[in-house]
Amino acid sequence: MILHDIAEGLGRGIEGVTSTFTGAFEPTIRLGVTGLSRAGKTVFITSLIANLMNRDRMPQLTAAAKGAIQAAYLQPQPDDTIPRFDYETHLAAMTGADPVWPNSTRTISELRLSLRVQPTGLLGSFSGPRVVHLDIVDYPGEWLLDLGLLEKSFADWSDESLARAKPREDAKDYLTLVAATDPAAKLDEPQAQALAAAYTAYLAAIRAAGLSDYTPGRFLLPGDMEGSPAVTFAPLPRPESTPRNSLYREFERRYEAYKSKVVKPFFRDHFARIDRQIVLVDALGAIHAGPQAVDDLRRAMADILGAFRPGPNAWLSQILFGKRVEKILFAATKADHLHHAQHGKLTAIMDALLREARDRADFAGAQTAAMSIAALRTTVEDTIDHGGEKLDVVRGRLLETGKHAAFFPGHLPSNPAQLLCRARDGQTAWLDADYSIMSFAPARQELKPGEGPPHIRLDKATEFLIGDRLR
Ligand code: GDP
Repeated sequence: MILHDIAEGLGRGIEGVTSTFTGAFEPTIRLGVTGLSRAGKTVFITSLIANLMNRDRMPQLTAAAKGAIQAAYLQPQPDDTIPRFDYETHLAAMTGADPVWPNSTRTISELRLSLRVQPTGLLGSFSGPRVVHLDIVDYPGEWLLDLGLLEKSFADWSDESLARAKPREDAKDYLTLVAATDPAAKLDEPQAQALAAAYTAYLAAIRAAGLSDYTPGRFLLPGDMEGSPAVTFAPLPRPESTPRNSLYREFERRYEAYKSKVVKPFFRDHFARIDRQIVLVDALGAIHAGPQAVDDLRRAMADILGAFRPGPNAWLSQILFGKRVEKILFAATKADHLHHAQHGKLTAIMDALLREARDRADFAGAQTAAMSIAALRTTVEDTIDHGGEKLDVVRGRLLETGKHAAFFPGHLPSNPAQLLCRARDGQTAWLDADYSIMSFAPARQELKPGEGPPHIRLDKATEFLIGDRLR
């Protein structure tokens, strides 16, 4: 096993070796957790850590089921400059006497969980236990979409963004402001701020509508960059002339600064060191939002996969230096909104989206898979009689009212093409179908010793992502 790890590390170049080993033969797995805002990253990481520390609910993680994981404990993370993922606060929120959802991801954070593993198999019984470090890196999926900006000039990005905005109702205020702006006039900072604010409001509105084609990714999640010039610009039509000190020239300069001072450091310092990746997707939310949101999700998945196949991006290829992510899991989250009778259909939709995204991104490389999971199960299943029809529902405590309710989100089609074709054809509503969504509060529960929070297939997802490194 150790020999295998050494060979693997050497094959990856200098970066890979330093990230793979932190001490004498203590392999490290850097697991990236991403997904667009509200996809479920914070809940996923909190539940994953809790369920790796208390493994009774992880039967599909082979190393847990076979008892190979002897202990799991948190350790100081290796990167001093990244905020620590606030596991304790998030777990206390989710599992306290009056459980609530934790605060969502706003920026990058990290946590190291160390696992003491007794290797199994033929050679395993001859060697003692070893320590495997799992460095979990949480980062907003919006940041991945920025990769495409590296190859685009300000003029190209502006043209594309304005063309996409034009037919959208949510863009009206921004487009009105642009129409009243002379990009060739001298920069006026309040005007620049007003344009950036109107553009950000438009991005927030399309995000709320379930769309995900919003760049620059930091505009909605600026973290400590809020108010700085690198996030105070917006797309503009190119005027005939662009004099020095003009608004256009200044926005162009800020756009380039955004690329070199914000986007590149993230890819170089964090993204390039990831070994395994989970991309969380609120697919049920997109289905509820309608065909355009599903089509948009399909495009976003292709963009995300594109980031993991850096071939066409010369800058990223150089940074990666031959290292590549080995496994990528696309997981539809919040599957506890569905009775298990429909989980297979949700997974089939994810599978179809992944297949299309792979084709679109011309992706060949890492091993990929799609699954439906719930990092924190908030519901129980039931079958009710609904006007003579048997309906498979889930029951839970509603977030808004605190009341208990039964919920049926709609029949997902057995053939995912029914949804995806309609989405691709630019339709604005589903045919003969209506999908609803409800927000459930985390359930009150008493965890027995050895148990982590209840979940759906978190163990299967973990087996896919890191199971091979725990044998
Ligand atoms: P992030 O922005 O990706 O960090 O998203 P969060 O992890 O904060 O999740 C956003 C919201 O999605 C939460 O506040 C919950 O309402 C919901 N959510 C996330 N995971 C689950 C889950 O496993 N089950 C259910 N029912 N809701 C979830």
